[in-house]
Amino acid sequence: MRLSRSFLPTLKETPSDAQIASHRLMLRAGLVRQTASGIYTWLPAGLKVLRNIANIVREEQDRVGAQEVLMATIQSAELWKRSGRYDAYGPEMLRIKDRHERELLYGPTNEEVITDVVGQELKSYKELPQILYQIQWKFRDEIRPRFGVMRGREFYMKDGYGFDIDYKSAVDTYRKMMLSYLRTFQRLGVRAVPMVADTGPIGGDLSHEFLILAPTGESGVFYDGALDTLDWLADPVDVDKSEDLEKFFKNVSSYYAATDEKHDEKAWESVPAERRREGRGIEVAHIFYFGTKYTKSMDITVAGPDGTPVHPEMGSYGIGVSRLVGAIIEASHDDAGIIWPDNVAPFKAAILNLKVGDETCDTLCEALYNKAPEQFLYDDRSDRAGAKFADADLMGHPWQIIVGPRGAKEGKVELKRRATGERFELTVDEALAKVLSA
Ligand code: ATP
Ligand code: MG
Repeated sequence: MRLSRSFLPTLKETPSDAQIASHRLMLRAGLVRQTASGIYTWLPAGLKVLRNIANIVREEQDRVGAQEVLMATIQSAELWKRSGRYDAYGPEMLRIKDRHERELLYGPTNEEVITDVVGQELKSYKELPQILYQIQWKFRDEIRPRFGVMRGREFYMKDGYGFDIDYKSAVDTYRKMMLSYLRTFQRLGVRAVPMVADTGPIGGDLSHEFLILAPTGESGVFYDGALDTLDWLADPVDVDKSEDLEKFFKNVSSYYAATDEKHDEKAWESVPAERRREGRGIEVAHIFYFGTKYTKSMDITVAGPDGTPVHPEMGSYGIGVSRLVGAIIEASHDDAGIIWPDNVAPFKAAILNLKVGDETCDTLCEALYNKAPEQFLYDDRSDRAGAKFADADLMGHPWQIIVGPRGAKEGKVELKRRATGERFELTVDEALAKVLSA
């Protein structure tokens, strides 16, 4: 994209109403604009980031055998009355009436819809397990929307739902999802630690929240410092083998990590004192097993192996895709701006033409840009060099390819790595190879 023609409204001044760095930077870098409290329009660069995250989530869901569907955002109140949650859900639910006075709602989550759809089709235990997911907008009328997209009212979520014939199989599904999530966060370039979370009335130990550690996080967390460096994905896992999944899960669970609701003082004391870490984190995902809660209340059964009807066991698997945009920035920025991880960045590199109008610079920049126009943001504005550097740092492109008249004459450019500040003098081809292979 050519910067001179793109809609990338960056701001020099710091927006006064934004309390945390990621919110300020998302506004300043022109990623989003607020259109109502907790409701945002995603501008071109922001949308690219959102899509990059969603695509990685999608690929890692598919890789463990989950299948994508797309449910409507609007749901019928009828379904929620069947599960008994319509009255229980409270003021976070946006309730709507259509022209016939029929009660509708904007979905805050989709257990009812998916249980109804799947329940109508499944007949036999032989069709299980099934994992279905979607990436879709949700609405929750949060009492205090804040921190930009981190706690919005309309937000983008991956929500997945597992259906299994028995507890043992549901546990495998749960572990598959945990694996898929850790792979997802690794590819996103962030560390999200799975922590034992509250299970509410369901009980048991199958509820984990994934938290990106950050001082501005809303959740209090307690964890074993060994987790700062543990590689959860070191051993290969065959998702069709229960033993592999069990081994993987045991490894993850062998270090203490809990949200404040589940903090257990006694277990905490068994962590060596010098490794005890207390802090804050941003919840970017949540997985939990809830058994037959919905299949029972909505009266869904399949024929079990001996022909008797069985209520399938379920779990819900959520990732906050739009919250992740803010959370990644919270974990990866400096005073100058955003530092995008490679796989998330809206552009792989900015090409900074320091002397627009100079034939050598222009020719070299055009040639470079045309190698991969969709991956580069070409700063072809006739601004001062200083303004270009500042904007590139603010927008957080992983690389900056800096083209000045002296180097250009010799076919050379300067390549800057945003994350480390490292600079390399390279030929055009060398720079291209380095940027596009990253
Ligand atoms: P929280 O405790 O932060 O309110 P939750 O427990 O209500 O979240 P879940 O129902 O578990 O959220 O939803 C799955 C994921 O969706 C969360 O882990 C979070 O990343 C994201 N999410 C939830 N509420 C919001 C929101 N208001 N804005 C943005 N993302 C959200
Ligand atoms: Mg949660």
